[in-house]
Amino acid sequence: MRTVDEHLTDILANVPVLAPLDLALLEAAGGVLAEPVAAPVALPPFDNSAMDGYAVVAEDVAGASENDPAVLPVIGDIAAGDSGVSAIRPGLVARIMTGAPMPAGADAVIPVEWTDGGAATVRISRPAPSGHYIRRAGEDVVAGQIVVGPDVRLGATQLGMLAAVGKARVPVRPKPRVVVLSTGSELREPGTDLAPGQIWDSNSFMLTAAVVEAGGVGYRQTMVEDDPRAVLETLEDQLMRADALVTSGGVSMGARDVVKEVLTGVGTVEFHKVAMRPGKPQGFGLLEGTPIFTLPGNPVSAYVSFQVFVRPALRAMQGLPPEPLPTVTALLAEDVRSPQGLRHFVRGRLTFNRDTPMRHSYTVTPAEGQGSHQLGSLSSANALIALAEDAVDLPAGSHVEVLRLPS
Ligand code: AMP
Ligand code: MG
Repeated sequence: MRTVDEHLTDILANVPVLAPLDLALLEAAGGVLAEPVAAPVALPPFDNSAMDGYAVVAEDVAGASENDPAVLPVIGDIAAGDSGVSAIRPGLVARIMTGAPMPAGADAVIPVEWTDGGAATVRISRPAPSGHYIRRAGEDVVAGQIVVGPDVRLGATQLGMLAAVGKARVPVRPKPRVVVLSTGSELREPGTDLAPGQIWDSNSFMLTAAVVEAGGVGYRQTMVEDDPRAVLETLEDQLMRADALVTSGGVSMGARDVVKEVLTGVGTVEFHKVAMRPGKPQGFGLLEGTPIFTLPGNPVSAYVSFQVFVRPALRAMQGLPPEPLPTVTALLAEDVRSPQGLRHFVRGRLTFNRDTPMRHSYTVTPAEGQGSHQLGSLSSANALIALAEDAVDLPAGSHVEVLRLPS
């Protein structure tokens, strides 16, 4: 028997980091930047107006008030995108739009709300200091500055930043492509009829969706029956398109545990009992260099194993820290018993308490039905209470670590 930590350490020491690809920005979404990107230009690239209004010489409006407005001739309009070089002299103003380049000679912008909005002459009823409502070149980003660091997963804001400095393609470690395969002769496709003794395959749907939630690309492969040749051939076929493989079923002690049977001694795959509940039988290794995670078949075991082992591994493959699910400390609402020596993952419902305007806490209530086949209690849970190996009896009111499930 190995501990959860030993098994995860083994996995993390062996998963390869994906090679970077040069991808167009939207294809790079969810990828992890492989090299820092420096801004080739400053942002904003030129001084421009922060408001719709009038570009003025601040001194010309210094004494303006409601009762004694400054009345000044407007020499023209400057719109965002105008490229003609413009200038004003003292005593003149230009109407200007947000984002339009400041004309030479002007040193402030008066927002249109402080004026009568005039087109030929304008009445300005409030003064503004020099520099007012001007967005200065370089005040956001300086030319040469690193705008997105390496090992950052590219989300919406990072993609916006890269586009803003003119990048069309970037080197990223792509989302890992993960093929998910259920094994079991009892399994049938949802939507089809069942004969006695058969069940619908749920694991492959659940695990494919979990891959996506973990930042990968999930490919669901239809289930394969407990036939050694069929399992091996399917896995070999899938290696072509996979950065990682995840199987469920066929790894425990039964007479038909076909995954264990065909993969023992293949590549570097090894099977272990891991001191956890649920999820004791686990297998992991490399098949022609591709990581394979062989998870147990009971749906809750498969799901918990995915979150505990596969999720951090997929992150490591993208060059990210192998963080677990986000964890909070919560107050246990009921007594819980835990098996000595096993890391125990208890399905539960986490609730948020707003104790005072400035303070909050969490309470977690264990779910009814903790059997590893009981998907009902998993699907209505939003958290896993993670109890350490040495925890045995935890009374209500104990503080426990809780992994928040993706929602
Ligand atoms: P196994 O690990 O193959 O012995 O399966 C353990 C239990 O999980 C059995 O009751 C299986 O019928 C069930 N099981 C295995 N694979 C799936 C699946 N893909 N969907 C739903 N239940 C499954
Ligand atoms: Mg099976």
